Amino acid sequence: MDFLPLFHNLRGRSCLIVGGGETALRKLRALVEAGAQVTLVAPDIAPAIEALAKEGNPELVRRCFRRRDLRRPVLVIAATNDARVNARISRLAQVRRLPVNVVDNPALCSAIFPAIVDRSPLQIAISTGGSAPVLARQLRGRLETLLPAAYGDLVRLAERCRTRVKARFANSNARRGFWESVLEGEVAELVFKGRADEAEAALVRRLDAAEDRAVGEVYLVGGGPGDPDLLTFRALRLMQQADIVLYDRLVSKPVLNLVRRDAEQIYVGKTAGDHPVTQENINRKLAEFAQQGKRVLRLKGGDPFIFGRGGEEIEYLAELGIPFQVVPGITAASGCASYAGIPLTHRDHAQSVRFITGHRKDDQLDLDWQQLASPGQTLVFYMGLNGLETICAQLSAHGMAASTPAALVEKGTTPRQRVFVGTLATLPAIVRAQEARAPTLIIVGTVVSLHEKLDWFGEPGKDLRGQSGSCADT
Ligand code: SAH
Repeated sequence: MDFLPLFHNLRGRSCLIVGGGETALRKLRALVEAGAQVTLVAPDIAPAIEALAKEGNPELVRRCFRRRDLRRPVLVIAATNDARVNARISRLAQVRRLPVNVVDNPALCSAIFPAIVDRSPLQIAISTGGSAPVLARQLRGRLETLLPAAYGDLVRLAERCRTRVKARFANSNARRGFWESVLEGEVAELVFKGRADEAEAALVRRLDAAEDRAVGEVYLVGGGPGDPDLLTFRALRLMQQADIVLYDRLVSKPVLNLVRRDAEQIYVGKTAGDHPVTQENINRKLAEFAQQGKRVLRLKGGDPFIFGRGGEEIEYLAELGIPFQVVPGITAASGCASYAGIPLTHRDHAQSVRFITGHRKDDQLDLDWQQLASPGQTLVFYMGLNGLETICAQLSAHGMAASTPAALVEKGTTPRQRVFVGTLATLPAIVRAQEARAPTLIIVGTVVSLHEKLDWFGEPGKDLRGQSGSCADT
């Protein structure tokens, strides 16, 4: 973090602006709005500033900056058009440990002004650390359109009713649930229509009827294959309101970063060598947290219902009568296929697609190879890296041509995605030579031949194509 955002209480406090032009005026307006008492020092002063001074704030001092001007203020702004003067003010202020802002020169600043969305008492400050002020302003524009003008009134209503609501609930989860329903529902809508009194009455009615008991819930959410842009809106919304999250190894870091900041995070993934958390243990934890009134996010890679054991988890919850909802995610097959430019079905190639587990039990892969080897379909193997050789050998042995195109997608949809392309005969050697690492997905079928033409995600020339068992340079 380059700067720590803080909100300053400047009411009645003395601030110094050096400079009398347009930029000084902009800062002056912000300071006056925050209730600061401003002294403005400059030999020449713009008429708009003079006009403000007539109303008493700022106090004008018509001369050049002097060192003693730094005696009183708690904040200093250098806004002259002379870079040397600005630098000197910055140096002198910093010696005195005074926060200083030099307009358009982040290197000389110990404090910077953010772009502000003001719905006082709600305020949103946006900063790029001085690197791209235009971007900060664009973002502000977007946020302005998202927040109704009367948002501040909603905050004031909450402030007025706070003590009363607090006294009503012993259970803090129940209290939070109450506020959530108030701040998003009918009450908020009344405030936005400018009917604050009616809104308060509606809030009080709800408060009288509220139960002092929190009902927890489990959100079984598919986090997709890695790229956070592939989350659904609903997944994101639930991720933002969860109190606690139990997540798997396959959930990518950028996806996990979108979970509410203060939600407790519990890793329940299975990694070789670790003591894995048993499925039964996970089921029990989900239930326990929900019974405490928490909103529990069960976040899984891909889709929770595809090789994700999501079904078992909610079966357990259903038996206990615990409410839950399920949010689908983009499964690895869809994600990897799209990002590798391999359509899973295609009128000229495949009329069906099958998702198969390639996970070996006791070193065996017990699948109906005869059926899998039949033409006109695409095969997608999950968890198949260790079994790749067996898969290719068995398919060939059961009549699929050794020249059938096959691909292995490593870390699909992430910036580290690699796609290895070969045939049933060549893919295992290519993958071994390139030391592919999990997670990987195997796609078998003539659709793989389209990758060359349709790849849009991989860098040009970065294709890991196998030629007669070898791999082209990356
Ligand atoms: N529920 C998940 C699958 C869990 S099984 C889903 O719907 O995607 C775990 C397997 O998924 C891995 O062994 C791998 O085969 C596949 N997988 C998950 N994410 C992947 C990714 N980003 N790239 C390649 N394969 C992935």
